[in-house]
Amino acid sequence: MGLSAAEIIDSLPSLRLTVETHGLLAKKALGQNFLLDRNITDKIIRLSLEKQNKDSFAGDNIYEIGPGPGGLTRSILRQEPKKLTVIEMDDRCISIMKDLQARFKNRLEIINGDALTIEIKNRDEAPRHIISNLPYNVSVPLLTGWLKDIEHFKSLTLMFQKEVAERIMAPINTKDYGRLSILSQLNCKIEKLMDLNPNCFTPAPKIWSSVLLFRPLENRPSAQELKKLEHLTTLAFSQRRKMVRQSLKSINGISEKLESLGIEDTRRAEQISPQEYLKLASII
Ligand code: SAM
Repeated sequence: MGLSAAEIIDSLPSLRLTVETHGLLAKKALGQNFLLDRNITDKIIRLSLEKQNKDSFAGDNIYEIGPGPGGLTRSILRQEPKKLTVIEMDDRCISIMKDLQARFKNRLEIINGDALTIEIKNRDEAPRHIISNLPYNVSVPLLTGWLKDIEHFKSLTLMFQKEVAERIMAPINTKDYGRLSILSQLNCKIEKLMDLNPNCFTPAPKIWSSVLLFRPLENRPSAQELKKLEHLTTLAFSQRRKMVRQSLKSINGISEKLESLGIEDTRRAEQISPQEYLKLASII
């Protein structure tokens, strides 16, 4: 019988030694803030599994965006996924991943490229999960792309800058509430797993981070409703301080449509709930 994932990982050089050997100085342009403490990466994976009532990732296909030196990668592999696919742009990190692949063989696939241009929804069979300490400069476009394809995924476990996580989870009538909150909350149940202070990272960023777990809701907007929602929320939030009778006036008969749904046209963009936006999208 072959070695277990945990036995293989326990036999590897430490993460700090790996970073040193590969001369992996973090590059700001690639949003590189590394997690080198196993207690933290194991905890992220443990909390994600616990919330999903799972003991491990056995039988599941996982995609990790930006594995970097591989701390979170090691914690994922310990949970014995069917296959882990890593997508990374930095050649130095690809070379670290190749060393890992020599041990894990076809249980680890490496894609050297830009996650923004790589479609993962149909690469392997379901169940599929995405896990990532996201590069902060592309975290929002990556998330919005996956939300549009969310039916292909069982869960997303993602680390964001805390301020972005707050926008995602923001309730109606708050300053953080906006397009990202509406799109996220209409598609997924979202739970915060943990906040991480800057000292958890190498190098330490200026701000805190948060890890969120997204799981697709059963009743989600259709592709057509999502398109209309995008149009509607762009109009409403580009003039956030205005009443919606003003910001949405380019939509034919908007006041009557709002009235038919019991939404006063004197409300502002942030005073309309995600469900109300969805109802409106379905009649425009
Ligand atoms: N997962 C590692 C960890 O937790 O220590 C590294 C996380 S670091 C915040 C983000 C990683 O994403 C870096 O390794 C960076 O090279 C990679 N990256 C940046 N932009 C990317 C992109 N567009 N596509 C794929 N990887 C990217």
